[in-house]
Amino acid sequence: MSDVEQPTPMKLAVVGAAGRMGQTLIRIIHSTPGAMLSGAIERVGSPHIGSDAGVLAGVGKLGVPISDDALAAFAGVEGVLDFTTPAASVEFAGLAAQTGIVHVVGTTGCDSTDDAKIALAARHAVVIKSGNMSLGVNLLAVLVKQAAKALGADDFDVEILEMHHKHKVDAPSGTALLLGEAAAEGRNIGLGQHSVRVRDGHTGAREAGTIGFASLRGGSVVGDHSVILAGQGERITLSHHAEDRSIFARGAVKAALWGRGRKPGLYTMLDVLGLDT
Ligand code: NAP
Repeated sequence: MSDVEQPTPMKLAVVGAAGRMGQTLIRIIHSTPGAMLSGAIERVGSPHIGSDAGVLAGVGKLGVPISDDALAAFAGVEGVLDFTTPAASVEFAGLAAQTGIVHVVGTTGCDSTDDAKIALAARHAVVIKSGNMSLGVNLLAVLVKQAAKALGADDFDVEILEMHHKHKVDAPSGTALLLGEAAAEGRNIGLGQHSVRVRDGHTGAREAGTIGFASLRGGSVVGDHSVILAGQGERITLSHHAEDRSIFARGAVKAALWGRGRKPGLYTMLDVLGLDT
């Protein structure tokens, strides 16, 4: 037997436990050494309250009933995985600050007010927030930043195309915005002042230096993203195709384990993956 002491598994709670990502997170926690499901939360009035989280996620009984008491659940765990809605994530960030735990936020569609509230909570909690928790997309963001820097705005136009399943409620996707931020950083400009979110009707010619977005919705697409750098007579396309939601869940669990014992603050997946440039 090894005399190296193994750390105790990190106790984690999943909020939005009955959702598409919530159920995937429960399955991934269940199969990850060093992580343990200890709480599962759904909204007040949800038909899933009282159901066993493992049974709901298809991994068999785990003895963790789905509850609507988030504060009690947060008090009993070291980390929370949150893929819900902007309003819910702001509320959960407050509770994570109150209990001083790790809060992994995958929720997209947050506006600047939501982000400011989450940043405030990060003074007392370890908050890791990213519009995409997968290794592939975060590496793609690094490549996009490099490409946008190397291929200047006078010669290359940046356009970002995304497609998601028909249930997605926000657009452009959090990942498209993350990739847009990467391109903007590469060009040393602010995305807010240079993004074109929609085109319709007589728009006039494309303004140089802008970053354009286009969103498609349909079927069961987990997430496709392409960043196109279009120049005179040539085009470079950098793409990522998510085939399975487990890539986001594995990233989120990795983020929680990385955040254990860290100083409170606001971090991204680039910090977790050591890709920060
Ligand atoms: P979903 O299937 O609708 O799941 C969201 C779950 O959160 C639902 O079960 C919902 O319950 C629950 N919820 C909402 N408000 C709540 C509250 N106040 N308390 C407790 N539970 C609450 O959506 P999804 O496809 O899993 O996506 C969730 C979010 O994650 C979206 O913003 C999506 O864009 C994002 N996402 C991010 C990544 C990433 O890598 N960052 C990857 C995939 C998805 P009800 O159904 O009762 O409202």
